[in-house]
Amino acid sequence: MTVKDLYEKVVNGVIISDIELQRAIVYDAEKQALVIDSIYKGIPLPAFYLWKREDGKLEVLDGKQRIEAIKKFKQGNLKYEGKTWKAYAYDSDLQQVVDDTDLSTIICSGTEEKKRLIFKRINTLGVPLSNFEVLNGLYHGNYIEGLNEYFAHDANVRKVLPNATLDRGDSKYHLLEYIYYVRKGSVLPKRGELDDYVQQHKDESFNDEVKKIKPYISFICDVFGDASKIGRVLKFKLAVKYVKDRTIWLQHKDDICKDCNAFIKSDGYKLSPSKEEDIEAMILGIVGNLRVDPKRLFTTDDKKELLSQLTPNGQGLFECKNCHQHFSADELTIDHIIPWSRGGRTVLSNAQLLCRACNSRKNNE
Ligand SMILES: [Zn+2]
Repeated sequence: MTVKDLYEKVVNGVIISDIELQRAIVYDAEKQALVIDSIYKGIPLPAFYLWKREDGKLEVLDGKQRIEAIKKFKQGNLKYEGKTWKAYAYDSDLQQVVDDTDLSTIICSGTEEKKRLIFKRINTLGVPLSNFEVLNGLYHGNYIEGLNEYFAHDANVRKVLPNATLDRGDSKYHLLEYIYYVRKGSVLPKRGELDDYVQQHKDESFNDEVKKIKPYISFICDVFGDASKIGRVLKFKLAVKYVKDRTIWLQHKDDICKDCNAFIKSDGYKLSPSKEEDIEAMILGIVGNLRVDPKRLFTTDDKKELLSQLTPNGQGLFECKNCHQHFSADELTIDHIIPWSRGGRTVLSNAQLLCRACNSRKNNE
């Protein structure tokens, strides 16, 4: 493809080089002039990577900045050695040389997944693109712009998802994960699913997403503040699940923070196979103010799980862990091995099935 072919295809919309900016790195006028200089002096430019869509149009995966430079120069908005394109018309071979220069173009096609991969690989300059940079590059539009706006203007979201200087959009990517989680009924996206989601919504407004996500962001901000050591994703999951109990969680926020932080530092936490459930049970105990019988926090599912770990005898009866007599499933109750009053938590690893007599005897000790 010659420079002239490329330029015409861009102007006619056959090649789509949406220059919304894609990447943070934008060529300044000097660098743009260098593109023209290379073409004129026969110094090969890096290959242009184009993606062939089903409708036959070509999207630019790599080369947007170079195309922008060519476009600006040919349209008179960029000077090369002090002169515009038109000024080169009569006393120079520049127009001819530039127009006739062959560019190396690589045209790819295939699945969306492949497109993302190619984009990620070629746009690297040695540094792989972050997840967000890939989305921002491939699916730039209303949606991503709205997301950027939201981050720029909402202090709460920046507090919940701090944007480190060099994280290259990780916080925004995390917010998109949260949105996906809420939209898909509490499921975190698997590989490629978030990209699909953003692709589908790229031209839509981001306002509905803001409305949807705001109550959770404010819940995390207000309840957990910035002192809580609870993990980012767990905080969000808890916000989604308990936003309706906001008032009572807020009343207990200091205890939640203090107790969870202490627990997270403990050996019990390090060894626990069910860290998220443990923290959740702990918070429920705190907001339940312990006036609720903590035993009620074990669910019927917990009981089923414990029963499934026991082998019934010939009559279908289960053994009480304390007196070793056999009882029907209905006659057994869940007991905290370490009592709640002594810091035992409502987690399966701290649960056993006892007959009613043994359980009440233990409670009265
Ligand atoms: Zn017993």
